[in-house]
Amino acid sequence: MRFDGHIHSPFCPHGSPDALADYAERAIQLGFNGITFTEHAPLPAGFTDPVPAADSAMAYADLPRYFQAIKDLKKEYQNHIQIFTGLEVDFIEGFEEETDHFLGEVKGELDDAILSVHFLKHNNVYWCMDYSEDMFEEMTKSFGSTDHVYASYYRTVKASVSYPFRSLQPKRIGHITLARKFKKLYPSAGSFKEEIYGILDIIQERGLELDYNGAGTVKPLCGEPYPSDWVVREAVKRKIPLVYGSDAHTSAGINQGYDQLLFQEKLASPLFLNRTK
Ligand SMILES: [Zn+2]
Ligand SMILES: [Zn+2]
Repeated sequence: MRFDGHIHSPFCPHGSPDALADYAERAIQLGFNGITFTEHAPLPAGFTDPVPAADSAMAYADLPRYFQAIKDLKKEYQNHIQIFTGLEVDFIEGFEEETDHFLGEVKGELDDAILSVHFLKHNNVYWCMDYSEDMFEEMTKSFGSTDHVYASYYRTVKASVSYPFRSLQPKRIGHITLARKFKKLYPSAGSFKEEIYGILDIIQERGLELDYNGAGTVKPLCGEPYPSDWVVREAVKRKIPLVYGSDAHTSAGINQGYDQLLFQEKLASPLFLNRTK
């Protein structure tokens, strides 16, 4: 069973125009049995996307077309590969209620969902942590040091895995060591072991699963999957399910980083939200 639970789509404004069918074809070629499309969910109304082109997520108005396009694809490929409808939902400090409300709105459409942290709040300003090394450098200055940025990230991830969503709990937690995306330029002095143990303990207690994300392996300043090897070993000790995610933004990106993952024989398919569909 080979599953890719983290795939973007032509609905991503910072992605590629590759069609949904291109991703499906590529996945079939590579021997995947199932995939979930997890486009960046629309950002909450009232939240200003801090990246220059304001293109971090899909437009709210595109949601019906996105869901319909995946429904059509499911039919087209029903005898070839399992296809699931998902979203990668941002956890944004200060917008928890709005996010919960949004999840309630779309829950009937979703088979699967990832909860990720990309935005950090510091002194009432939001930053996008994984946008560019230049923005990361600005963050280290504004937050006080590189370790302050990492600390803020792990604190926010902890808040995300702890948050009691009432409408729908996304089961998979996205790339939990994304703070390391630019680590070759901005390594942390601290290991953040205690923070990460704390996050894993909550994930285990709440029955959530981890996005084991290959995208970091192709980022020249990162060169490793998210999470890092030691974190994956700790997750396996805690029996937390790991679901491979290519985080592909092009059809060619399917399978990226897979050969660098540990425990390939243990990789799971997602704990689907709506098993009845
Ligand atoms: Zn993206
Ligand atoms: Zn992400």
